[in-house]
Amino acid sequence: MSLEKYGWGPFFSQQLESNSTFIPGRVSSQHGGLYRVLTDTGEVVANVSGRLRNFALSSSELPAVGDWVLLQRREQARAVIHRVLSRRTQLSRRAPGKRSEEQILAANVDTVFIMTALDADFSVRRMERYLSLVHESGAIPVLVLNKCDVAEDAEGKRLSAESIARGSALHLVSAHSGEGVVELHRYLKPGRTVAFIGSSGVGKSTLINVLFGNDVQLTRAIRVKDSKGRHTTTYRRLIPMPGGAMLLDTPGMREVQLWAEDEALHSSFGDIAEAARDCRFRDCTHQHEPGCAVRESIDAERLSSYHRQQKELAFLHRQTDIYAAQAEKQRWKAIHKSMRNYQKGE
Ligand code: GDP
Ligand code: ZN
Repeated sequence: MSLEKYGWGPFFSQQLESNSTFIPGRVSSQHGGLYRVLTDTGEVVANVSGRLRNFALSSSELPAVGDWVLLQRREQARAVIHRVLSRRTQLSRRAPGKRSEEQILAANVDTVFIMTALDADFSVRRMERYLSLVHESGAIPVLVLNKCDVAEDAEGKRLSAESIARGSALHLVSAHSGEGVVELHRYLKPGRTVAFIGSSGVGKSTLINVLFGNDVQLTRAIRVKDSKGRHTTTYRRLIPMPGGAMLLDTPGMREVQLWAEDEALHSSFGDIAEAARDCRFRDCTHQHEPGCAVRESIDAERLSSYHRQQKELAFLHRQTDIYAAQAEKQRWKAIHKSMRNYQKGE
């Protein structure tokens, strides 16, 4: 099957039922309720079956870009999506807005390039945030520090990035001069999916264009900005790269609010967990307790970044509990109503 080039593998084929007539495909973009899906006989436009939509308990159970789905072909490159296969990885944030809801940014991504620029915009605190997001997803984070051609004190910045990377790979590059870019190709192997995250202006589009090289057709497919410098790609897309990898183009994110379990923080802040073993109190909050080993050994700004993320997650989990309870109540109401109708013989 030629689906391997899109990232297909045993993890997904194991989920197929033997006598099913559905065909697998990978979601490459989404516009409202319409999806573009790559199959081994070409791209189709698909919508979600009524059953799948009605039975989804939350929007995260509906297809997202990067998902493997099972389809039924209709005439003229149209299809219906009947099932979303279990995801290998799932990159999410809290959806912007008041409601506490998960928004899936990308499914089944292998590597996430967390991009920052080595100019005045450089911020290890923002990187810490992205790291928590990626640790939660199951994908492998790679820190990419761009604009090393104009960096002041690149070595100092590299050191402070290394101190929070906790073993994640870190690359200093320049999308302008090309320095260090060749190192990134090791993540772009055939069938692998990479996504880029980072705030607007760090050089994601420029770097992507460099990685696409002379492949004009693909570069044009990205169409990064219009004449006013605004992004024309406001949606996420999965695009095959020249070397055989799949690129997941995420729009610049101004705000990333975490959507994670506490374990994600343990991965991003393992040094704090380690130091906490030496705190005098087992349940030390590392804020005011005497004999706190964390306050003694961890950089104060990193510690307050940890506390901020922890607070954000605590708030999120409280909100999500309330929201889940409400949703459950609605569901039972609907079930009772349909039971009553059934008893009435409707
Ligand atoms: P995006 O919003 O993350 O996609 O960022 P862009 O790719 O649009 O880049 C923002 C600005 O940074 C543009 O003016 C680029 O020319 C510039 N830029 C990107 N990469 C580099 C680099 O490596 N060095 C320097 N000096 N400028 C860069
Ligand atoms: Zn402590």
